[in-house]
Amino acid sequence: MHAITTAIKHEEPLLFEHQHADEKSISLPGVVADTPQHLQAFLRNEVAMIPSLSEPEVVRHFVRLSQWNYGIESGFYPLGSCTMKYNPRVNETVVRLPGLAQLHPDQPEDSVQGVLGLLFELQQSLGEIVGLPHVTLQPAAGAHGELVGMMLIRAALNARGEQQRTKVLIPDSAHGTNPASAALCGMQCVELKSRPDGRLDLIALDAALGNDVAALMLTNPNTAGVFEEDIAEICARVHAAGAFVYGDGANLNALVGVARPGDMGIDCLHINVHKTFSTPHGGGGPGGGPVAVCDELARFLPTPRIERDGNTFCLRHTDEESIGAMLGSIGQTGVLLRALAYINAFGRDYLHHIAEDAVLNANYILHRLQHAYHVPFAGFCKHECLLTDEKQAAHGVKTLDIAKRLIDCGFHPMTVYFPLIVHGAMLIEPTETESRATLDAFCDAMLDIASQCEADNTDALHDAPVLAFRQRLDETVAARKPVLTWPKKAAT
Ligand SMILES: *Cc1c(COP(=O)(O)O)cnc(C)c1O
Repeated sequence: MHAITTAIKHEEPLLFEHQHADEKSISLPGVVADTPQHLQAFLRNEVAMIPSLSEPEVVRHFVRLSQWNYGIESGFYPLGSCTMKYNPRVNETVVRLPGLAQLHPDQPEDSVQGVLGLLFELQQSLGEIVGLPHVTLQPAAGAHGELVGMMLIRAALNARGEQQRTKVLIPDSAHGTNPASAALCGMQCVELKSRPDGRLDLIALDAALGNDVAALMLTNPNTAGVFEEDIAEICARVHAAGAFVYGDGANLNALVGVARPGDMGIDCLHINVHKTFSTPHGGGGPGGGPVAVCDELARFLPTPRIERDGNTFCLRHTDEESIGAMLGSIGQTGVLLRALAYINAFGRDYLHHIAEDAVLNANYILHRLQHAYHVPFAGFCKHECLLTDEKQAAHGVKTLDIAKRLIDCGFHPMTVYFPLIVHGAMLIEPTETESRATLDAFCDAMLDIASQCEADNTDALHDAPVLAFRQRLDETVAARKPVLTWPKKAAT
């Protein structure tokens, strides 16, 4: 096992910000003399603030910063719900092709036929993969897709004359973006309690359904990594009550090539292409959240629509009932093209390997850890497995300690304290791109931690991480008062 960062410690001046005191390498007077007034202030106040560093110093500074970070290319990154999979280099070759990388979003249609053709192909592929034929590529992330989906459902209900349907039913296991998106669309969120086995409670569903309900928002498999086996019945009941079923497709990695949400009865689904179909992501971007819908919702999809007319691709800007443009361009092209590259690298006949290997890997971890850690929901998991700290808590060790200790063992921690329906949750998602050797090394570290707890030898767990560049942070301050600006200013 290797530590992520070993020797790097807090040596001055190797800090996050780097410049030589009282030195300026930029002199502006000549420039300023001929410069329009409004630019002068900018040059004096902003450009003159650029640190005075030589090129090697700048390069070393940024490479050093990148080494303090941990990414999917540093090691295993089993962050549940986030589907942090390795990004094949061929994707990067594809998106860097000059004919794709150097386009401008506002170029005339006849000069971007190639990229329009590829995006059209992606629309078709995604529609086929999820079993919902009409697709928009516009949403810039999963959460944005949720908002678009809610707007489509709102528009369809209004067209039916059912403005009174304003409630959205959301299980208590849902990702936080679900209620946020529904609320942003002006809907009223109603929480559905999960059953003791982590699944949606049909009795609670029946009790909540009525002619004021617009939709059920459901993630399947859900955020506990558990498949909603009653999905067909759930969809039938929601439809019988006159509402739509919105599918949160963030967990599509468990299904791709094997089962289709559209066939299960889902009407509208976003696909986190940056999760299921690779793309370096994290820290809020970049992403893509295409939305696929059933026939009834199709006429409300955002414009412009990418369409095919014989051998030509065009953008249709007018659509009477459309909810309108949801992005300043037709989509996050770089992310979308990587997704297409990933899909086509497998091809229609082999796409199922993604889900099968991801589910196998998650169950392998579950199998190896199930005796050392408490498993809240018995049985096989899908693409991620859920454990809790119940056994370790008896020795004074919490999920947070386990996560921090994993950093010292050279791994990125799993997702912690989510989903909220289990206490001390640890959600582990290995994805299909990891080898058995990596899974074993991770499981060995987890078993090691568990036996340290058993032996009440827990100091290293409470102190962790000691090998990382930063030790244990005040997470509340980090979340509430982040310092995100340069030059460094304390958030107010
Ligand atoms: C990641 C995720 C989302 C939100 O997607 P973003 O692309 O991060 O906006 C929604 N639901 C679930 C279950 C997720 O894992």
